[in-house]
Amino acid sequence: MPLRARAPLSAAGASVQSVMVKLTLKFDLADRYTSPSQRARVLTEHWLGEQGYCPNCRCPQLRRFTNNNPGADFECPDCGEQYELKSGRRRIGFKVIDGAYSTMLQRIQRDQAPNLILARYDLRRISVTELFIVPRHFITESSIEIRKPLSQNARRAGWVGCNILLTSIPAAGRICIVNAGMAIDREEVFSTWQSGLFLRHQAATVARGWLVDVMACLDSLGRTDFSLTDVYGFEAHLKSLHPANANIRAKIRQQLQRLRDGGYIRFMGHGYYRRTII
Ligand SMILES: [Zn+2]
Repeated sequence: MPLRARAPLSAAGASVQSVMVKLTLKFDLADRYTSPSQRARVLTEHWLGEQGYCPNCRCPQLRRFTNNNPGADFECPDCGEQYELKSGRRRIGFKVIDGAYSTMLQRIQRDQAPNLILARYDLRRISVTELFIVPRHFITESSIEIRKPLSQNARRAGWVGCNILLTSIPAAGRICIVNAGMAIDREEVFSTWQSGLFLRHQAATVARGWLVDVMACLDSLGRTDFSLTDVYGFEAHLKSLHPANANIRAKIRQQLQRLRDGGYIRFMGHGYYRRTII
């Protein structure tokens, strides 16, 4: 069974009580830039520096890296968690463009990928309209897609970038901070962040990748209760993600045990399960 296409913005936390949030644009900061994307970057970085917070430790601010750090844009001054900001005017789609493929792959394998902050802004309304965080423990090898090398005519001919596939990341890994211009209650954000932290206990990033892939399959089922047979339905899909594995069904059962140990699902007996975190 292939994964069903899901709207990336059906992120965790989007249904709770919200409050209005304003992007307080400091237009003078962007005056020296002519490119719309550069202007937007300056304005949204400033906004995040003023109004951002750390969902990992509740620190009420994020510190912007002053030097040009290639790996991340912000850091929590308390816990050191790092964040990369990507912002744009368009609706956040099914994938986002990231940097060099080899660099991202290496970061994932070394467990050094930053948390991803995705923001959509509306300059006419002077506001950030959507913003969500993908915690770094949800970003796995299955989440990145290699892009075609740049053509010979390009300035960086042959350079290979990558996309981050938001559809391969389970809803629990897309934590909504701002939805339709409204800020999500922070307690809900902290709670959602905490519920996924069990993934970090997997020392090997390959093991974490398996867990995240199975979580995405469970999302695709679209219901709270499910059976082992339901998950076996994703055998071919999981085989395509992990072609070297010869016993996908055993691997599926192992992931279900780990998800139970992490509090994500409950065993109901006789091959039936129930999700505890939606
Ligand atoms: Zn922190």
